Amino acid sequence: MQQASHPTVILGGGFAGLFTALHLSQQNYSRPIILIEQRDRFSFKPLLYELLSGELHSEQVYPRYKELLAGSSVTFVQDTVESVDLDQRRVGLVSGKLVNYSNLVLALGGKTTYFNTPGAAEYAVPFTSGEQAIALRKHLRHRLHQAIQTSDSAQRRLLLTVAIIGAGPAGIELACTLADLLPIWYDELGGDANEIRVVLVNRSQEILKGDVNSHLRCTAQRALKRRVIPVDFLFNAAVTQIQAQAVEYQQNEQTKVLQAGTIVWTAGTAPNPLLMELPVPHNRGRLLVTPTLQLADFPEVFAAGDCAANQDNPQPPTAQVAYQQGKAIAHNLQCLQEHKPTIPVQIQMRGTLMKLGLNEGVANLFNKVQIQGQPGHLIREATYLQLLPNSAHNRKVTTEWLTDELFQRHRPFSHMQLGQTPWLYGMATIAAGLIIATPLVLRAAQPTQFQQNFSWTGIPTLLNQLAPSAK
Ligand SMILES: Cc1cc2nc3c(=O)[nH]c(=O)nc-3n(C[C@H](O)[C@H](O)[C@H](O)COP(=O)(O)OP(=O)(O)OC[C@H]3O[C@@H](n4cnc5c(N)ncnc54)[C@H](O)[C@@H]3O)c2cc1C
Repeated sequence: MQQASHPTVILGGGFAGLFTALHLSQQNYSRPIILIEQRDRFSFKPLLYELLSGELHSEQVYPRYKELLAGSSVTFVQDTVESVDLDQRRVGLVSGKLVNYSNLVLALGGKTTYFNTPGAAEYAVPFTSGEQAIALRKHLRHRLHQAIQTSDSAQRRLLLTVAIIGAGPAGIELACTLADLLPIWYDELGGDANEIRVVLVNRSQEILKGDVNSHLRCTAQRALKRRVIPVDFLFNAAVTQIQAQAVEYQQNEQTKVLQAGTIVWTAGTAPNPLLMELPVPHNRGRLLVTPTLQLADFPEVFAAGDCAANQDNPQPPTAQVAYQQGKAIAHNLQCLQEHKPTIPVQIQMRGTLMKLGLNEGVANLFNKVQIQGQPGHLIREATYLQLLPNSAHNRKVTTEWLTDELFQRHRPFSHMQLGQTPWLYGMATIAAGLIIATPLVLRAAQPTQFQQNFSWTGIPTLLNQLAPSAK
């Protein structure tokens, strides 16, 4: 069945798929590479909050595939995968095209699930892509404009209330961002920022329950309370229905209603339904893979990221796992091409990072050191910007970010900073920015020289651990 002329086909252009494609191209892989993705832009999900707030812009964290793949040997096909036939080694697309493959990479991620909650799909907005982040920004701006124009105080309260369903990392990061951002936007319109309400609705009493970030619970809880407008908690609240402008929930065996002009759903991710249909073993909907990330019965097929699981070495569904897997799959595809054995994939967890408001974050490095506040924010952004796929893009974006940090561009003014001396604050930012970002920029610009000249300091090794180069 396998024909040399058939390409290696990658399904899904998220962290796992895009990084597989880019690494294959950089390895001078001899077989044609096709990346099939339904969207025209790559969403750098960990930085979607910055896209919403305007701290970073579309070109930085929501770039077009055409731009990211320019100069590579990857053929980008914008289409939706409709079927995968593992026996025939063929993929069916919504456009009607059939694509044969010699090797396949399944990297289709997951999907938002509403747990069959009535009205949720209709009235709650998800927050998982650049498109949705931009739509949410427009919606929130619109609500603030409506609020400033109404003299009806009950209506204004409703328009100014944002309910965020789910207190996992996305819910918390979004709540912290909005609780700093909305007062600034509303203040600019001449409104009273104290009228804004951001409510975090959670089924259980604990935030970050069962999440890889759970050890940051206390830090996150403190941060939620310390925002410009402290975030309200609605815990032990099981959402039973979402209406156009209301969340109905059960709490202490009573049915209650929260009126809210904006309802954001961050509560759940389900496996991609397309992959559930494949005749291979699953674990909670994720495809079971061998330690080399291959399907046991179809070794020409790899699977990675949020849609795959290795039972012997389970990994959390995160970007930092997905991109490392992408790189490893590219290596193993090269091994197959050269008739060498494939290699088990080692994932290095380098700690966790969270955004806890505008210009505030926490970096938990190697699960040993916690750096909070402005330095935590700088480490988080610098680390993620380093991961942007494609060296030219990466260098441009990192330089832009550094300039923005130094000259305080794109920075919405925070009430929390009113008490600080702007001059002192700027100097502190410049110092912290330079210390953290200079090595990253140097490494991106001249990787070999950087390694040679600075290896004696240990900085290249530390950086490789903390923020492995995307190339
Ligand atoms: C708001 C948010 C914040 C996050 N923050 C962090 C963080 O700070 N750190 C971290 O490590 N992780 C974070 N994550 C998780 C991380 O983004 C995911 O684990 C990661 O994106 C998984 O990568 P993936 O390649 O498996 O899937 P995805 O990135 O979801 O990519 C899957 C791709 O497949 C495409 N696709 C799906 N179905 C089809 C189809 N039928 N046809 C064609 N294309 C299709 C999708 O459009 C998508 O581009 C965050 C996630 C979200 C939503």
